[in-house]
Amino acid sequence: MSFTTSPRHALRLGLVTVAALLLGLLATAPSASAARAAGFVGACPTTGFISRYYSAEHNGIDIANDRGTPIYAVGDGEVTISGYEPGYGQWIRVLHPDGTITEYGHMYQRDVQVGDHVVAGQRIALMGSEGQATGPHLHLRVWADPGASVRTDPIPYLAERGIDMPCTPGTGPHPKPLEYPAESGRVVSARSADGRLEVFAAGADGIHHAWQLGVNGGWSEWEPLGGPGGAELAIGPNADGRLEVFALNGTVAQHLWQTGVNAPYGQWDTFGGGGTEVTAATNADGRIEVFGTSRAGVYHKWQTGISTWSEWAWLNNTSGPAVN
Ligand SMILES: [Zn+2]
Repeated sequence: MSFTTSPRHALRLGLVTVAALLLGLLATAPSASAARAAGFVGACPTTGFISRYYSAEHNGIDIANDRGTPIYAVGDGEVTISGYEPGYGQWIRVLHPDGTITEYGHMYQRDVQVGDHVVAGQRIALMGSEGQATGPHLHLRVWADPGASVRTDPIPYLAERGIDMPCTPGTGPHPKPLEYPAESGRVVSARSADGRLEVFAAGADGIHHAWQLGVNGGWSEWEPLGGPGGAELAIGPNADGRLEVFALNGTVAQHLWQTGVNAPYGQWDTFGGGGTEVTAATNADGRIEVFGTSRAGVYHKWQTGISTWSEWAWLNNTSGPAVN
């Protein structure tokens, strides 16, 4: 099991920081160095090429890529706007603990609501071309103040937070989106892309799960999910935020995944032969890798892309220690 700083604790720290910064703003005008001192460690907003830079005529930067490209929050913060506006299309505003604001426009899907607490690198939307846009791109706008009155060039703003544009999500000083360690055992837990915890327990009659009804909130009833009985479990987040569960007992290995981000689960699918123990990890580029043990040794299987898998193989073509 793992333990991270509780979101409530982090939020409380954030509010204290905002309060301190607001007091600071009354005394001194904001400056680049002050922003750097109070700034957060950033995360890459999206992958793509910069099709338009910041200027007097253009109040942000445009990052162009295919429709549906994931868009991530550049820092921790609170969603203060998630809605529609004719020019922006679907757009999101995030207030960060340092008092700055980032805005994301022209999306075709939004994953967060007003009041949600997001973390740096959390997927918040999918790229689109809604509103005044000639093709799919992210319009990223930055305000230097909590009142959204002083606009600033996103490129130096991001550079001060460790992000050099263009960037690749999952690289840079901040950990990959929604970093959550893969877990294994008879009971495993993970965090959905929207921040709700979910827990899976292996019973004799298959796997059961329960989930938080809201972020930091109360829990659902247990729900049976089927799958192999008496299994060992592993869970890992896919690069796009979908959780995937692996279950292995003496004779079979099966896996199950969310059909969409924060969406219900599909059907169990075969994942090869059985074994004794299973664990999963996430590569730095977001691909899940699964390890299994048997009396013959340790084997692994890895994603070759989203939802495509290699065959089981020994590490380095050798079986390693036998694990009973
Ligand atoms: Zn633009």
